[in-house]
Amino acid sequence: CGIFAYLNYNVNRERRYILQVLFNGLRRLEYRGYDSAGIAIDDSSSKCDSNSAPPPLVFRQEGNIESLVKSVYREVEETGVNLEESFGTHAGIAHTRWATHGEPAPRNSHPQTSGPGNEFLVVHNGVITNYEVLKETLLRHGFTFESETDTEVIPKLAKFVYDKANEAAGEIVSFSQVVLEVMRHLEGAYALIFKSLHYPNELIACKRGSPLLLGVKELTENKDSGSAFEDNKFLSKDGKPKELFLSSDANAVVEHTKKVLVIEDGEVVHLKDGGVSILKFENDMGEHRASLSRAFS
Ligand code: GLU
Repeated sequence: CGIFAYLNYNVNRERRYILQVLFNGLRRLEYRGYDSAGIAIDDSSSKCDSNSAPPPLVFRQEGNIESLVKSVYREVEETGVNLEESFGTHAGIAHTRWATHGEPAPRNSHPQTSGPGNEFLVVHNGVITNYEVLKETLLRHGFTFESETDTEVIPKLAKFVYDKANEAAGEIVSFSQVVLEVMRHLEGAYALIFKSLHYPNELIACKRGSPLLLGVKELTENKDSGSAFEDNKFLSKDGKPKELFLSSDANAVVEHTKKVLVIEDGEVVHLKDGGVSILKFENDMGEHRASLSRAFS
């Protein structure tokens, strides 16, 4: 019943640290109630050739946050994932689930995925009321489903949209174009965060009817006190190191930054290259930038 994401931009963070931020985020959401939890982080980029990034790693567990934490560390150890590996930029997502469709079980926990390869991953709060018709359509197009959730149609629809767009010769679609097209088909209530193999180091979040916030912490080296950092200005795409947070609950963000923007229904938040774009979803697919300053007056 909570979503959380952490994106570090141009600041080195070890995998161990990234995991801690994600787990702490989940612990802050714990009071809202949940029956399972999960996260997605990046695999090592050194494991494969330069053309294809390895699929994100997904960990899902029913029960409390601590059993997820334990199972993640167990699996990390068993599979030789390096906790000391450092990422200059990394996008991690996390979820606590309050099941509405499908019993509490690892396969029904989030992130839900587009299929093997984890091309698109989604964490979702809410209910997709038209998931059955979307599922039927996707089944007809050869998708297979592993969960009983309403959520699973979302990452699969994203892959469907992405593949279709790429089939059309020469067309390069942005992550936000994919998500805007997915949103066009969704009915019900949702706050969503998307992570994709095809758009590494980017995240997209959007909402309708369920809460969502963005937190921005710009890190600037403080010359006076050596290693200390201080909050600086907001939303500049200037290569400056920063940390970005998305959450369904202010609780999980305010411990990191006071610069919090409440996302409104129909808004799509695109985190990319250290910048934040907020698009407004319109039924006619028109998109424009919403005001970014309203929450900071
Ligand atoms: N409807 C989704 C599910 O049952 C999301 C539930 C939630 O908000 O945690 O998986």
